[in-house]
Amino acid sequence: MPFTKGHNLWNHPNSIKTRFQKGGAGHTIPHTEESKLLMGKNRQGKAVGKANASYIHGLTPLYHKMKSLPEYKLWQRKVLERDNFICRNCLKKGGDLTPHHLTAFSFLINVVFKIKTLQEAKECFLLWNIRNGITLCEKCHSETPNYKWRVHKTPRDRTFYLPLTALAIFIFLLLPQPTFSATFGYTSIGATLHGLALGAQQSEGLGYSPAESGTLDSITAYLKNADVSNNHNAQLGLYIYSDNSLVGNTSNIVVPLNTTNWRTGTVASTPAITVVDYLTAIQIDNGNVQIYSDDTGATTREFQNTTYGTWTNPASWTGSGIARRYSIYATYTASAAAPAPNPPNPPAIFFDGDSLNYPPAKPERFTYQLKK
Ligand SMILES: [Zn+2]
Repeated sequence: MPFTKGHNLWNHPNSIKTRFQKGGAGHTIPHTEESKLLMGKNRQGKAVGKANASYIHGLTPLYHKMKSLPEYKLWQRKVLERDNFICRNCLKKGGDLTPHHLTAFSFLINVVFKIKTLQEAKECFLLWNIRNGITLCEKCHSETPNYKWRVHKTPRDRTFYLPLTALAIFIFLLLPQPTFSATFGYTSIGATLHGLALGAQQSEGLGYSPAESGTLDSITAYLKNADVSNNHNAQLGLYIYSDNSLVGNTSNIVVPLNTTNWRTGTVASTPAITVVDYLTAIQIDNGNVQIYSDDTGATTREFQNTTYGTWTNPASWTGSGIARRYSIYATYTASAAAPAPNPPNPPAIFFDGDSLNYPPAKPERFTYQLKK
């Protein structure tokens, strides 16, 4: 410190140090009543405790007690055991492994489940679901997004983090759930190769019902082309069982020469289907195209003569007296949402485990040290 004009030296009579040493006993001067009042006033209006931006949301006494629960220890052990004590990120075996929460434990307690007592924590079985856990070594753990985020994030970050994540979950729950594709019909490969009448549309006469309403996308059949030199074609159709009205049919499905496989044709204009019984049907343009079927079921094959490519509507079937189940099925897009997974997965932004390598390379058990 240069001898600047206006600055006091450490031993100057007016320096702070000198003034405090002047007090004699204990080398301190007690606060005067006036300064105590001023100090008290200084705290007034300041955010204290929970109201302070530096308040650490998750680090309540309750939070610490939860980490001592047998449920918590069991959760840690189960995560480690499931992962065979191997870091799910770098596949390092043993060592300082951590059962890491994919969605932060404090976030689950405070925001998702709003747990207020130890008993509530014990009874909240979703809290102890090991799907939210992943085994990581210390190095990989330190690279996770929510690793000690309370420490790394500024108070301002924390102020924004929790409302934003809560908002993200809320938006996620509002999003329309993805629809799913499903099939109905006979999806097995029949044991019998069955020749079809040329210029006929044929159905087994057995009704199949979709699980949900939706729109018809395609029809698939297990077909063989016995011709070793030419491709041939088939068409597949779908009728309503009760009134034999045509729902839709595929355009030509090429069955390549000398092949046997599932062949799929799309149905134009994706007609609507409901939860009623349907008949599947097939037409071929050459006798070399054959279909697989099982000779089971107390039903009769029914067919109606027609010209290839013409789908009679409504169909007028004639029973043949032979029981068959053709390997034909329809694929549709259900209009209802897919059933919600139980429990629903957290939104991707909380989920840092999806891209991790799994399963671990070699199951092997190691001793480990539980983190406190
Ligand atoms: Zn690792």
